[in-house]
Amino acid sequence: MPKSKPVFPEFLPEEVWKWKLMEERFDHVLKLHDYHEVRLPILLDRGFVERGIKALMQGRQGKMLAARTVNVCGEEDETNRFSLRPEGTISILGLAARQVEDKRIHRYYYHGPFFRMADGPQKTIQLGVELLGSNSPISENEVISLGIRLLKELGFRDVSLRLNSFGCEECRRKYLNAVRVELKKHSGDYCDACHAELAANPFSHTQCEDPRCPQEVPEGLNILKYLCPDCLAALENVKKVQANLGHSYKVDPRLTKNYAYYNGTVFDFVVGEGSNPQTIGGGGRYDRLSERLLKLSIPGVGFYLDLDLVFNIMDTRRLFFTWDNAFSVYACALSPGLEMMLLQIAQELHQADIVTVVSPEIRNSDREQQHAKVHDCDLMLAISEESVREGKLELINLARGTQTSIPLNRVTESVQISRKLLRK
Ligand SMILES: [Zn+2]
Ligand SMILES: [Zn+2]
Repeated sequence: MPKSKPVFPEFLPEEVWKWKLMEERFDHVLKLHDYHEVRLPILLDRGFVERGIKALMQGRQGKMLAARTVNVCGEEDETNRFSLRPEGTISILGLAARQVEDKRIHRYYYHGPFFRMADGPQKTIQLGVELLGSNSPISENEVISLGIRLLKELGFRDVSLRLNSFGCEECRRKYLNAVRVELKKHSGDYCDACHAELAANPFSHTQCEDPRCPQEVPEGLNILKYLCPDCLAALENVKKVQANLGHSYKVDPRLTKNYAYYNGTVFDFVVGEGSNPQTIGGGGRYDRLSERLLKLSIPGVGFYLDLDLVFNIMDTRRLFFTWDNAFSVYACALSPGLEMMLLQIAQELHQADIVTVVSPEIRNSDREQQHAKVHDCDLMLAISEESVREGKLELINLARGTQTSIPLNRVTESVQISRKLLRK
């Protein structure tokens, strides 16, 4: 077997419990806010993905994104053309469109892997949260506050907001004119491709490979100067509400987004202060996206969290360990012929919700203690012929190295008492 690392490595047990804890936390918060989980398909019809990308991004950016989808089957087979999902919003809008007649507000969330090509296929794990069917300022503030609450629940005490507005079509038309004038003045600074891309979508970051290319619209351009009174009032409202909810924010008129479909308020969630703030997610309003994609009007607002990044920061900050109350028992037989009793004891402990690792071998007590420590167990229960004759077995506290005899008919009770003592 080759030893090289697989493109998509497995999640190992030492990580899985942390992912599950993280998921339990956000499931809990999202449920409190009446958000419902949907499980989106990972494999999508390629035509649907291509239409979705066209709605998300126009022009060269759309083509670049389309070229980066991970396609599963060959071009030549028309009936067998699938792509791995590159993002979730298009599927969510497709789902809402099928239920649009009821005019309800839909609160959805989903999480899992999304795929892109970049030096080979790449996977990111994201959480997506979407509120569909309302364009009210309350829905916008609800979604932003939910993101902050969620991150605080995961243990981030230093989360803050970056706010900006991409305006309405009227604001954007004025801003785009100003951007084109400014770009003309600085045309020598940009490569042709970036110049064209920014002239089409001034909210993007071009990720150009030429190190001399500024990748963003020229300095000094500020969308906020071009906002109409309504768009300005909407941004002021978000600032006021978020400040009153005790959420710290900064208005950043240079905040960009990969996708051009947002309108009105856009935001990023940032953790860390000072010189090393990290953006771990963000979102905004996308009231016009469903018209482009489905010819239906479904206003929406939502955000994503980069769960790979959230996981890594939580791990570095040791936020998982504050929840870890793992406790386990190692059970072994020191002499042959006691298998039945060993399995009965393990069954009794399992029924009492106590993690119990059963040793499959017959070894002496010292060797079994070494194995119990490898399994990170707290206590070891050892049955031997002599102890059973006296109606007892040995209970060893592995951290302290102490040993006591306990009655065979009070195993669970004795383990629970020892567990309580361990916590002190
Ligand atoms: Zn406007
Ligand atoms: Zn460039």
